Amino acid sequence: MELPLSPTTQALAYLVSAILFIFALKGLTHPATARRGNLFGMLGMAIAIGATLAGAAVQGYWLIGFAGIIGAVIGIVVALRIQMTAMPQLVAALHSFVGMAAVLVAIGTFINRAQAGTLNAVLMGELSAGIVIGAITFTGSVIAFAKLQGLMSGAPIKFLGQHALNALIAITTIVLAVHFASTGSWVSLVLMTLLAFALGGTLIIPIGGADMPVIISMLNSYSGWAAAATGFTLHNHLLIIVGALVGFSGAILSYIMCRAMNRSIINVVFGGFGTDSSSSGSAGAVAAEKGVKSASVEDAVYWMEDANRVIVVPGYGMAVAQAQHALKEMMELLQARDVDVTFAIHPVAGRMPGHMNVLLAEADIPYDQVQEMDEINPAFPSTDVVLVVGANDVVNPAAKEDPTSPIYGMPILDAGKAHQVYFLKRSMRPGYSGVDNLLFYKDNTSLIFGDAKDTIEGIVTSLKGGGH
Ligand code: NDP
Repeated sequence: MELPLSPTTQALAYLVSAILFIFALKGLTHPATARRGNLFGMLGMAIAIGATLAGAAVQGYWLIGFAGIIGAVIGIVVALRIQMTAMPQLVAALHSFVGMAAVLVAIGTFINRAQAGTLNAVLMGELSAGIVIGAITFTGSVIAFAKLQGLMSGAPIKFLGQHALNALIAITTIVLAVHFASTGSWVSLVLMTLLAFALGGTLIIPIGGADMPVIISMLNSYSGWAAAATGFTLHNHLLIIVGALVGFSGAILSYIMCRAMNRSIINVVFGGFGTDSSSSGSAGAVAAEKGVKSASVEDAVYWMEDANRVIVVPGYGMAVAQAQHALKEMMELLQARDVDVTFAIHPVAGRMPGHMNVLLAEADIPYDQVQEMDEINPAFPSTDVVLVVGANDVVNPAAKEDPTSPIYGMPILDAGKAHQVYFLKRSMRPGYSGVDNLLFYKDNTSLIFGDAKDTIEGIVTSLKGGGH
């Protein structure tokens, strides 16, 4: 093949990558096909990078190679070291890069085209959009990262006149963007860029750390639009297609997450829901005071080993404790005793969509033993034991029984309908929503306090020792 690639060959290569990206998204919709989806995505990206580097627009390889090597090394190190629970903040950090890239590409293009005298109205509009969306995405993502990483408080930061201030900054930014697009004024460009950076921060600070995953999904969507705007600027069709794919998939994901939590996106953006609850107290004492029964590993084993069916409800705490491998062992020991073991997955269990599925898949728990909420809910009344492993909100009956509860209306797993319910958690602290769990106080519920992994390992040891 001759280099540089002809525009037609390059366009064909881009088309192939775009198709591969669509297959990648499709593959990522189910754990069984996720690995294949990832491979399609990687192949699509390799073709995209290859076709871009082999194109006529590239004027030198040294800087690109140098930056590429640094980026690849950082990427590999981060990918190898990242904990699953830190995934949301990693995604936030990556979005900030997309935002900053969009800003820099747009400003760079403005300088080049101004020198060449080839600026036009359409291009100026694209540049303004790219800079504003990119800058908002950048600072918004940095704040989301800082909140999730604990570098700043996760609690909502609110003050009087906040919405009015945001509206004022937004309107001024738009006015400056229109002025820049029509005059090419440097002053407007600088002010617009600075204000858009500020807006990214002021929009995100009032949002509770707990709502960050939805916000990250929204910022994901913004980063897609920023990339699409850059695609228009650079006349790169692939960037436009990929930007639109990311833009829409992020928006749809935000919508799905909000629906599963029974909240509107407006409520997430303006609600200041949830805090970084870290209050504590001796678990057993608080439990006794509140009239909650605590139980031991032996109690749970006693009921589980003779059960017909056990349902495990994993939640965020399973991810924190990394209890999935111990759970697999427990599952096998119970199956050896002819106990039917199923894992029940709530759509927003954990802290990101598919969080539980990924962890269970990592522990090689077969997909046919993992069931979604609608599928498994009818089975709870005929289930002997439900083991709630670090989950909380997703089984809270307040969602059905208490119209005043912030989570009222959220669909839940009907764990409370089983004969026995055991919660594995460390304290009486509530989950993500900050709402007390009514299921703790039901007659058929007991809490086994401790780290979920330690408790499951205790159950495994007891089952191996022959149980009771
Ligand atoms: P929750 O956040 O409701 O509860 C998690 C529980 O895990 C806590 O009660 C905590 O109790 C316990 N826990 C934490 N660490 C450990 C540990 N090491 N060992 C044992 N237990 C532990 O989790 P759920 O999965 O039930 O619900 C998810 C929540 O997150 C929902 O409210 C959902 O709306 C929200 N959300 C989900 C998103 C998603 O996409 N999945 C996105 C955004 C929000 P303790 O501290 O006492 O141990």
